Amino acid sequence: MRQKIIAGNWKMNLNRQQAVDLASQVVHGAVAHADTFARRSISLVLCPPALYLEAVLNQTKGSDVAVGAQNAYFQPAGAFTGEISSEMIADLGCTYVIIGHSERRQVFGESDQMINQKLAAVIAAGLQPIFCVGETLAEREAGETAQVIEHQFREGTKALNAEDFSKIVIAYEPVWAIGTGKVATPNQAETVHSDLRKLIGSCYNSSLENSVSILYGGSVNSANAAELLAQPNIDGALVGGASLKADSFMAIAASA
Ligand code: PEP
Repeated sequence: MRQKIIAGNWKMNLNRQQAVDLASQVVHGAVAHADTFARRSISLVLCPPALYLEAVLNQTKGSDVAVGAQNAYFQPAGAFTGEISSEMIADLGCTYVIIGHSERRQVFGESDQMINQKLAAVIAAGLQPIFCVGETLAEREAGETAQVIEHQFREGTKALNAEDFSKIVIAYEPVWAIGTGKVATPNQAETVHSDLRKLIGSCYNSSLENSVSILYGGSVNSANAAELLAQPNIDGALVGGASLKADSFMAIAASA
């Protein structure tokens, strides 16, 4: 069974106490649902702002809830003012790093080449990247979704061998659905997920094609999650807004 992952991207939200409280509520929820989550192979991941990683790790210690960063620079150390490296994130005890989120691509100008370097660095540090790909509304309306996703996938994973690739979790996040309340239909999402899975098979091998988890992200909430997560190639969700409240995040996880 492929691993199902429900990851919360808290973005630049919450203060320290709110982050600690939210993490603690999620841990309690995970304990309450422990049998179901284990049976369905569901993992929870929290991605707080970098400043609160340690506080959230303290709350999740000893639980099944994993913690990830929202970004990492590709150099391990050095004169890169304001950046943090994958080594530092691994040193804290995190497991995941989100790479290539559309806000990093669009607001901070991250290129496919930089995302490729970041993926390689995250894997080299022993962490699992959540590698985001997704088309803009203009690209979808121009009928370019499949090409855009394939381009981002191929450029992002360039020079990564099958062993490296086996550490990756993919997140399909249509840019037009992120933070807009406009969720992709289960059919729209499933089409892209199934194309991504075939691409993994043709770039790597059939074992990875069948084993890599592909999450959907973009306005997932407790009302629309079940239908999306019921699709055969949707293995979980990367959740922004609805991950900021424990009830909605846990309801999404419970519907996986
Ligand atoms: C995200 O930030 O990755 C995201 C999917 O946000 P939202 O759920 O708020 O659309």
